[in-house]
Amino acid sequence: MELTNIGTIKRLFEENGFSFSKALGQNFLINPAVCPEIAERGGCRKGVCALEIGTGVGVLTRELALRCDKVLAIEIDERLKPILAETLADFDNVEVVFADVMEIDLAEILAEKFGNSPTVVCANLPYYITSPVIMKILESRLSIEALTVMVQREAAERICAKTGTRECGAITYAVSYFSEPKTLFRVNRGSFLPSPNVDSSVIRLDVKPSGGLSPERERLMFRLIRAGFSQRRKQLQNPLSSEIKLPKAEVAGLLEKIGKKPTARAEELTLDDFIALANAIN
Ligand code: SAM
Repeated sequence: MELTNIGTIKRLFEENGFSFSKALGQNFLINPAVCPEIAERGGCRKGVCALEIGTGVGVLTRELALRCDKVLAIEIDERLKPILAETLADFDNVEVVFADVMEIDLAEILAEKFGNSPTVVCANLPYYITSPVIMKILESRLSIEALTVMVQREAAERICAKTGTRECGAITYAVSYFSEPKTLFRVNRGSFLPSPNVDSSVIRLDVKPSGGLSPERERLMFRLIRAGFSQRRKQLQNPLSSEIKLPKAEVAGLLEKIGKKPTARAEELTLDDFIALANAIN
C-alpha cells in the first residue's frame, strides 16, 4: 500500500469518514522520499526499537517497522484506529497506543514495551506542541540514542542554533544541555497534505549521557535561562534579580565572576556560562 499516494489517502478517508484536524497539527507526509530518509538517518536498524509520536495514517510508522525490531507509536486521534488497522495490518511488530503524548509516562511505557533494547525516537511532530514534546522526551531522560523529528523550519533553526547567539532561545539551551543537535535535511511545504504555510526541517538530537549538573543545580539553571529569555531584550541582571531574589548588585557580581559584563543579555551567555552561573550561586 502506497501511503504517500493522494488517491490512497482519499480512499482511506472516505471509507472511514475521516477528515483532517487542524487543531491536532495533522499535516501528513506525501513525499515518498522523506519517511525512508527519516528512518535511515534516525538510526532505525535491526536490534533497535523505535518510538513514534503521531502516526497519521502510518506512513512513517511502516518505514520504522520495516527496519526496527519493534515500534511503539503514540497517537491521540482515535478516529485513525480503523485506518491504521488496515495500513499496518502487514506488521506484527507495531503497537499503537491511543493517548496524548503529553499525558503518558514515557519512561514507564518504554520500559514495559522495549525493556533494555536500544531505542530511537522518530516523528513528524504536530507543530503546536513541538517544543513541549521535545522537552518532555529530553527531560524524562529516556534511555534513547537519538530523537529525529520533523519540525517547522524556524523551530529547527532555533533549536539547532549555537547558544550565546541572537538566533537562540531558551529551548536552544535545554536541547544542547541534553543532546547534540543537528539539522539533517529540509522538507518543503508541498511534501504534506494539507500543505502548511511554512517549510520544515528534519533535525536529529543525539542524546548525551549526562548534563553534568546535580538535579538541584540543573533546576536552578533552567530557572535562570527561562527568566533571562522571558525578557531577552533586557539586561540579564534585571530578570535574574527578581527570579533568585538577590539584589541587582549581587547578580552583577555573579556575572562578573563568570567573566561576563553586568550589562549582558541572556543571549550573550553560552550554555557553559549558564552552567557556571548556576554553580556560582550559593
Ligand atoms: N506521522 C504522520 C505523517 O508523517 O504523515 C503524521 C504526522 S502529523 C504532523 C502529527 C500527528 O500527531 C497526527 O496524526 C496527530 O493526530 C498526532 N498528534 C497530535 N497531537 C498529539 C498528541 N498530543 N499526542 C499524540 N499524538 C498527537
